[in-house]
Amino acid sequence: MPGEVERLGRFLALLLETNKTMNLTAIRDPRDAWQRHVLDSLSLMPVIEEASPDTPARVIDVGTGGGLPGVPLAVCNPDSPFTLLDSTAKKCAFLEHVARELDLPNVRVVCARAEQAGHDRGKKIDRGGESFREGAMRDSFDLVTARAVGRLATLLELTVPFARVGGLCALIKGRKADEELAEAKQAMHLLHAVHVGSLDTPTGRVVVFEKLRPTPKTYPRPAGEPKRKPLGVPGNKTTDR
Ligand code: SAM
Repeated sequence: MPGEVERLGRFLALLLETNKTMNLTAIRDPRDAWQRHVLDSLSLMPVIEEASPDTPARVIDVGTGGGLPGVPLAVCNPDSPFTLLDSTAKKCAFLEHVARELDLPNVRVVCARAEQAGHDRGKKIDRGGESFREGAMRDSFDLVTARAVGRLATLLELTVPFARVGGLCALIKGRKADEELAEAKQAMHLLHAVHVGSLDTPTGRVVVFEKLRPTPKTYPRPAGEPKRKPLGVPGNKTTDR
């Protein structure tokens, strides 16, 4: 679309400029940044289409940091609503600035931990004899994305609760993807998610999961626990529900 390349360039310029005073990325060279940030993020484009073929996908990027992969994807999918979630207030303020500067009305920034936001079931509304929930984050998104937010056994617990039943989680991993996948078997079982495919990118591998049933109430566990005691990793006690 016209304007996309220019906007992506402006995003990288803001990211690299702000990176001088705030730790947003280890990559400082603009050419590397196009490859490692923009192209890596856009490797998820086919999964967005798959997650919701008929209507614009509702997407959440968990642990988005400086907006990766969320911002490049939001630029290239203007009809899709994007929620960018991060627990660090300074990064969220940067993302608000990016959304304003790039004029991205489809972007919403939420400053919270995934362990807390993953339990947000919205407000119960009673209307015309029917009751429904509005504004929920749990069980609500067609696609959940994440990059560099921990090993799969941890990351699944932080991401799967946000997906609707039948929705996808597309997690950008590095060379250890297969090793982490083997370790995450029990986490997939407990969270009712299955591995539906992987795709190789120039910098790593995207691992895609589908959520089969609603997430058991226990998950995500309290803040810090998914990282401290990854589900199903030897030495940790987990409950099967
Ligand atoms: N996804 C970005 C990227 O690929 O450049 C940022 C990766 S950075 C290594 C990890 C980010 O995840 C940080 O910004 C951190 O604040 C955020 N984060 C870590 N644990 C989180 C949690 N439990 N809930 C929300 N954000 C979290």
